[in-house]
Amino acid sequence: MTSKLETVTQNIQTSAEESGRKQEDITLVAVSKTKPIEDIIPLLDQGHRVFGENKVQEAANKWPDLRERYRSVELHLIGPLQSNKVRQAIHIFDVIETLDRPKLARALSRISQEEDISCPCYIQINIGHEAQKAGIAPEEADAFIALCREELALPVIGLMCIPPSGQDPAPYFRQMKEIAERNGLAKLSMGMSRDYQTAVRSGATSVRVGTALFGARSYPK
Ligand SMILES: *Cc1c(COP(=O)(O)O)cnc(C)c1O
Repeated sequence: MTSKLETVTQNIQTSAEESGRKQEDITLVAVSKTKPIEDIIPLLDQGHRVFGENKVQEAANKWPDLRERYRSVELHLIGPLQSNKVRQAIHIFDVIETLDRPKLARALSRISQEEDISCPCYIQINIGHEAQKAGIAPEEADAFIALCREELALPVIGLMCIPPSGQDPAPYFRQMKEIAERNGLAKLSMGMSRDYQTAVRSGATSVRVGTALFGARSYPK
């Protein structure tokens, strides 16, 4: 029987090939938020190592044990980060994908220095200008990227977004690629269960997939 992991991986490969890209250039971030350890272990046993969680405390409860049992796990924070949780977050996560405001950038910079931890980050862009979504407005992206890199010396590696639901995501993904290119950023985290194939065809270097790997979540985020 084909596992969900194999199906998603195959779909990524197909979309990559359709757009003249290589599968190795796209990372699958398996979004395990709300899912218990028993649901995560089968993916680890299949060799998958990159996971995303959206809450600091939930990750702190689930991942230390799993990391002891499985080597070279890479854990991404994909949910909002409060400034008062930064210290804990940089010890638990390997990558922070949701750098979304100056106050957080300043806290991350200061605390990373204090703890002597360099945590690669993505800047979250509110690509659809949605009031309910976090992120930097696209027209403010260049200035915020410069602040993070130059003034705060943060290791910014890419951009992340969640496009508006119920619309064709492709134009939003294209805009993301433009912002990344003009700022010399190599990584683009975009695409979820509903649109990861479009994201891959639009240049995503990582896709964050939950439902298509784990099934529906039993309670809303
Ligand atoms: C939950 C979540 C995902 C995964 O969503 P699915 O639709 O279940 O694939 C991806 N990115 C972020 C930021 C999320 O919060």
